[in-house]
Formats: sequence, structure tokens, C-alpha cells
Amino acid sequence: MSGHRYPRIKIDEAFVKAMPKADLHCHLDGSLRIETILELARDQGVELPSTDPVKLKKAMGAGKICDDLVDYLKAFDITCKVLQTRSALERAAFELAEDSAAENVRYLEVRYAPMLHTVKGLRLDRVVQAVLDGLHRAERTYDIKTGLIICGIRNMDPEISLRMAEVAIAFKNRGVVGFDLAGAEVDNPAKHHRAAFYLIRNNNINVTIHAGEAYGPESISQAIHYCGAHRIGHGTRLRENGDLLNYVNDHRIPVEACLRSNIQTRSAKSMNSHPFKFYLDLGLRVTLNTDNRLITDTTVSAEYLLAQTQWDLQAEEMGWIMENGFQSAFLPFRDKLQLTSRVRREYGELVERYAQEQGLRSEQRREADPATSPKPAAPPA
Ligand SMILES: [Zn+2]
Repeated sequence: MSGHRYPRIKIDEAFVKAMPKADLHCHLDGSLRIETILELARDQGVELPSTDPVKLKKAMGAGKICDDLVDYLKAFDITCKVLQTRSALERAAFELAEDSAAENVRYLEVRYAPMLHTVKGLRLDRVVQAVLDGLHRAERTYDIKTGLIICGIRNMDPEISLRMAEVAIAFKNRGVVGFDLAGAEVDNPAKHHRAAFYLIRNNNINVTIHAGEAYGPESISQAIHYCGAHRIGHGTRLRENGDLLNYVNDHRIPVEACLRSNIQTRSAKSMNSHPFKFYLDLGLRVTLNTDNRLITDTTVSAEYLLAQTQWDLQAEEMGWIMENGFQSAFLPFRDKLQLTSRVRREYGELVERYAQEQGLRSEQRREADPATSPKPAAPPA
């Protein structure tokens, strides 16, 4: 990549927080506030492992390294217990968007599996509408745009995925923007759920699939070729197959990276061996996301900051990652263009302000200006 749009500035935590950001991979049931779980449990008479916020967080293994993905998923049993009413779902969705907006997330795609919220008899359409209501209330209150992704679960009966696909279709153009397959990846290949994806694809619905997180590149290949995935959740093990890696790159298939979560589920051994920077250098359309704000104990800003410090990323690279996030949104093309150009302008102003504050000379800044630079920047698109 030659030519730079942005000068080299010192990036700090405040900069990362001020950046406009997208979060494309965020689970509702993994992103509640701990105080909200406690309040909901008290109101609903639900028993929890602890009524102390610190102890409860610990009992859920928030931020702690797990044995594997299946072990990590156990914490969701606790959060789902308190998400069985319309008001609880509405509140959880609103607060998630509120917390995201507070760190300048301008676009948030929330995902969850509606059938996990029918234990007390709540109807599926109400399970979905309650979450949409919460997200829309947040959109009216804050500068944030949202979308909802419905998940099938790999380790459940494929018939259930088919039912979820029908729910997604019923709510298409009413807030639902995509369909996903989550859950235990090992022994539960995506192709078992192909009936659901066949229906989804025939209804022109966007598809993202968790793949290459706890299983190898074959899983990513199946997600793309059997199920028509337009985006890949995690894709940590994509690097194991160079041919598929190039296919994903050539087709501009976005990769939803979630760094902290990958360490927690042992999808990546350590940050040093995480493939994110390798993908970024190759020009893959990589994005940074939270996965689970509570269970992974993270925020979008924390993920960006982790990547920045780990690989000494410059304003230029941070800008690519940010734009990749907005460009990979399950939004109509024109909306996406509009949003991307707005955040690009805002990001440029933020970098310029930092450059001025850090006393970079104007000729250094002009060098980075695409209008005067001999080789204008070509960010990966
Ligand atoms: Zn996930």
C-alpha cells in the first residue's frame, strides 16, 4: 500500500474512543450489564450463582480464558435465564445500544437466537419485536444506527434453524438484517443446517456464519459454499488454507475479528500468534468487533486499542479497519456509502486535530493530504 491519507500521530485511548466505529459481531445475551442481570433476576425471582456483581462476573468467567468454545458458551445459560420476558429483552437491547453509543459506535448489529428466549412461553414474534423495540428506542435517543441478526445454533436440531430462518424472513425489512449460525462448531458442520440457509438465500437475506473459530478452514469453506455466507464470524483459522484465504480476499468477504474473544476461547493461542495483522497486511476486509461485551469483558474501543498497541498500528491502518466495519454493514448500498463518507470525514478531522495538538509541521500533514500527495491513498475497499 503506497501513499497515505493520514499523518503518523501518537494514538492514545481517548483517540480510539473518539473514533466513529462499527460493531458487526455482538451477541445480545453475552453483552448485558452485570447490574441489569442482578436486577432482572431479583424482579423475576430467578436464582443466580451469586447476588454480588463481582462474584457473579467471576462465576460467568467474564474475561477469563476458557477450556474451549463450548466451555465459553456455558455463561450464556445464566444470561438467558433472565431474558425470558418482553421488558427484559427490550431493556437489554436498549442498554447494549446505549453502551455502544457512549463509546462512539455509530453502527451496531446485534445478534441472538430467539428460540432461547421462549422458555417461559413468550411467543417468537414477541421475542424479536421486543429486541427491535429496544434498539429503535436507542436509535431515537442516541446517534446510533442498528440492525438485528437472527441466529440458528449449530448444536441444536437443524429443524430449529429452519424455524429461525422463517422468523428472519418474517422480520426482513422490519429491523432484521441478516441470519447467522452460532454455537459449538466442532462436530456440528454448517451443512447440516443447509435447509435453513437455502430458505434464507431464496429470500435474499444477508448471511454471516461463525466459522474457523473452533474448527479449521473446511468450516469456512462450507459456510461460504454451502450456506452462502457474505461475511465470516472470526475466521481465525482461515490462514491455514492459502487458496481459501485468497478467495475470501478476492471476493472481499469481510472477516469479523474479535480479538479478546479469540484468546478466551483459545481460537488463537496468544495475541502474538493472532492472524489479524497478517490479514490486514494482505488487504483482507477485516473488521474489529466485541463478540460479547460482558462475557469477554470488552468494548469496541478496547478491541481497537488492543490491536493498535499489539501491532503498533498507525492512523492510516486504524482508518482502514474503521472503514471496513462500515463498508461491511448489512445496510443498503446507498446508506452504507453515506454513512462511510460521514465517518471518513469525521475520522479525518479527528486525526487532523491530534496532528495539530502534537505539533506536527504543516508540510508533514500536507504530505498526507490526498489532494497534494503524489500518490493518493488507496485504502482497501
Ligand atoms: Zn460470536
